[in-house]
Amino acid sequence: MLRFASIADLHRAYREGHLTPLEVVEHYEQVIQERDGLINAFITPTLELAREQAAALSDPEPTSPVWGVPLAIKDNIAVEDVELTCGSRILLGYRAPYDATAVARLRQAGAVILGKANLDEFAMGSSGETSHFGPTRNPLNPEFVPGGSSSGSAAAVAAGEALAALGSDTGGSIRQPAAFTGLVGLKPTYGRVSRFGLVAFASSLDQIGPLTLTVDDALRIYAVIAGADPRDATTLEEPVPTYSELLKTIQGLPIRTVGVIRDFLESPRLDARIRERMEEVIHTLEREGFRIRTVELPSQRYAIPTYYLIATSEASSNLARYDGTRYGFREEGDDLLSMYARTRGRGFGQEVKRRILLGTFALSAGYAEAFYLRALKVRRMMLEDFARAFEAVDVLLAPTTPYLPFRIGEKKDPLELYLADLFTVGVNLAGLPALAQPAGRVDGWPVSVQWIAPHGEEVRLFHMAFHLERLYKEGTHGP
Ligand code: GLN
Repeated sequence: MLRFASIADLHRAYREGHLTPLEVVEHYEQVIQERDGLINAFITPTLELAREQAAALSDPEPTSPVWGVPLAIKDNIAVEDVELTCGSRILLGYRAPYDATAVARLRQAGAVILGKANLDEFAMGSSGETSHFGPTRNPLNPEFVPGGSSSGSAAAVAAGEALAALGSDTGGSIRQPAAFTGLVGLKPTYGRVSRFGLVAFASSLDQIGPLTLTVDDALRIYAVIAGADPRDATTLEEPVPTYSELLKTIQGLPIRTVGVIRDFLESPRLDARIRERMEEVIHTLEREGFRIRTVELPSQRYAIPTYYLIATSEASSNLARYDGTRYGFREEGDDLLSMYARTRGRGFGQEVKRRILLGTFALSAGYAEAFYLRALKVRRMMLEDFARAFEAVDVLLAPTTPYLPFRIGEKKDPLELYLADLFTVGVNLAGLPALAQPAGRVDGWPVSVQWIAPHGEEVRLFHMAFHLERLYKEGTHGP
């Protein structure tokens, strides 16, 4: 059976004339049929669309960095005419009237869409267990969760059911599932990738990004989806160079100093096995000639409460639109109000309701000052802490997750699940770019580290990630 190690690998096969995009789609279709009954990575496969797209690729060989690449798209990102569920009952039957900008750009560049990937309901979760369409399983061991909320995106790629995927990251939802499944996951700078067509969870935090097998694959997708968009006023104006220009810039960067975040590394919540592996990575980098400096981010102590106040506040407002009149599911009532109440009562799952309640409370008169506004002040402090750290170092290195994958059903307390985001949410609150990548294994599980860079400096992430990937591939340092 075919198995591609990267997009470059697939492109080699195209160029050497071994394969056509249509044959590649047929291959993935077969894998999906064989494996997805167990893994549950896809909510809505779009194989007919994929075949049509593949058949229309008439160039004799790849003409873009993502040409002929079969993708899974997280099901909170719009693909025209395809059902858009957000993993929720409340959107059942709703079809997206247009493509998200990121999707349109990928299609334009010749990428092929295999289907819509499972996710925690409305991207709220860290385990892939809250979807109305059932939990996604981790292809590395199906008794375990694949992480979330981009659970299906990660599982599809890790299972070989897609070559790469799009996810969304509001508080870690690309990086954490990438960590649990041994993939590369990129959360771009806030505003780097258009949010047009991404269903809003917390609009000041949400970003779309890739989950891939390799660092180069992530760069290819990033190069295609990034850039200003008149349909999203928060996108950055700065033009994004092409993939090959980016590669050149990345190679030539003079990065010398890597900061390690003391507050994360010394956190009592960090699994000792992950800490050990982190220390090994740090030593490896030192041997490679990088200067390592310890930095303090004291405000990160408040990361979880700050994130869960801001994210739930924004969510409570964003999710007010699902009332049975406009989208998908409706439960009739005796009058308008009871129709709203029944639709929302039956349409949303438990975790989404919990978030709406929390957010509504945090914003309510008399409490907003004590909760929401205070959280905004702490957010400001976090920005300042990161800015101070980047005066002394070029890039930061941190563990991606505090713990390794756990069994499906094992973590029942929502607070315990919220802690999965301990090291990821600070990046979203500060709007920074971060890239998670595997760096060896413990007890059979991949361990992930994340690189964090200043605003707009994705190239630094890629520089370090290429370097580390090379070290671990050559086997000198990995197990
Ligand atoms: N796990 C976090 C949450 O549940 C992150 C979600 C996300 O990034 N979409 O809110």
